[in-house]
Amino acid sequence: MPQPVAPGTSPLDTLGRPVRDLRISVTDRCNFRCTYCTPKEIFNHEHRFLAREALLSFEEIDRVARSFVRQGVRKIRLTGGEPLLRKGIEDLVAKLALIPGLGDITLTTNGALLGRKARDLAAAGLRRVTVSLDSMDDTVFMAMNDVNFGVQGVLDGIAAAAEAGLTPIKINMVVQRGVNDGSILDMARHFKGSGHTLRFIEYMDVGITNGWRLDDVVPAREIVEMLDREFGIEPVDPSYRGEVAQRWRYRDGTGEVGVITSVSQPFCGDCTRARISAEGAVYTCLFATRGTDLRGVLRAGASDEVLDDVVSGLWTNRADRYSETRWSQTAGLHKVEMSYLGG
Ligand code: SAM
Ligand code: SF4
Ligand code: SF4
Repeated sequence: MPQPVAPGTSPLDTLGRPVRDLRISVTDRCNFRCTYCTPKEIFNHEHRFLAREALLSFEEIDRVARSFVRQGVRKIRLTGGEPLLRKGIEDLVAKLALIPGLGDITLTTNGALLGRKARDLAAAGLRRVTVSLDSMDDTVFMAMNDVNFGVQGVLDGIAAAAEAGLTPIKINMVVQRGVNDGSILDMARHFKGSGHTLRFIEYMDVGITNGWRLDDVVPAREIVEMLDREFGIEPVDPSYRGEVAQRWRYRDGTGEVGVITSVSQPFCGDCTRARISAEGAVYTCLFATRGTDLRGVLRAGASDEVLDDVVSGLWTNRADRYSETRWSQTAGLHKVEMSYLGG
């Protein structure tokens, strides 16, 4: 049976980056219709979501995850679509928790079903969760999720996750100018001192359905200045290579915030992430236009050795640095959607 690579001997891509994080999308479906991710005009009854048999089974996900861990992955994040919509998701967590050499399993969710699921997920071996919440204001939040889901439902989910020990919890807020930038300080005030870390994400040009424009982006620098004026914050050193968020702490010791600067200050040089879609295609960049099909490899009866060759081959050929080159190449690219690939 193939063994995990020894530390320091992971395959490197063409830019010298090892693979460390694997994001697994377990469904392309969602119970929200966030306007920046799955706009209703497109993701409606005419949209064809993946059929059940197209999805990787838990056994198939487990095989792929083990192969990536053998190449150097130490952290797995389950995502989607909305991962808590995948039936039996806690059984998948329990399977992945048994993988030797895997340091961390976490999950990103909109929080709507977390109240019901947090305890079972924790019991299955999930370590932490990231919960997305874009405003403390019901009117703003409901307009963004576009299914009239109120803020309190997400706060209840966060509370349930904290009670189940899925901590420290990260809260993701995608900031869009003129939509929810007025909620930045309210969100900071709410989570300051709570033990949870709020992260402000620059609105990205993922996919092609959200009609992204540069004018909609609030650069992280502007957010940091706003927070500093109101509360007083100072930078914190990154805790590891490839950490996505720039960290800041409140000078009064009441916790941290993060900013994710994918648009204004790209961090491709340290990008150690691979992503797998719910139907088993591997993408080595969030902005890729094409993935490598692993489902076909698995369903053709490939051995672990063959699977490992495919995975290490696609990683060693990787040359992605989209965010560093977006201004010269973005026009006309048919990029995959965030709800398909996962954030
Ligand atoms: N449904 C789950 C959720 O919302 O947390 C998991 C999947 S969602 C695609 C993962 C993360 O991507 C969320 O925090 C979401 O806000 C973020 N996201 C989606 N579209 C984005 C965009 N265009 N720019 C920046 N972040 C985005
Ligand atoms: Fe669903 Fe998450 Fe996309 Fe919102 S951001 S539509 S919750 S997948
Ligand atoms: Fe990684 Fe691609 Fe994002 Fe750059 S643009 S940080 S390579 S996912």
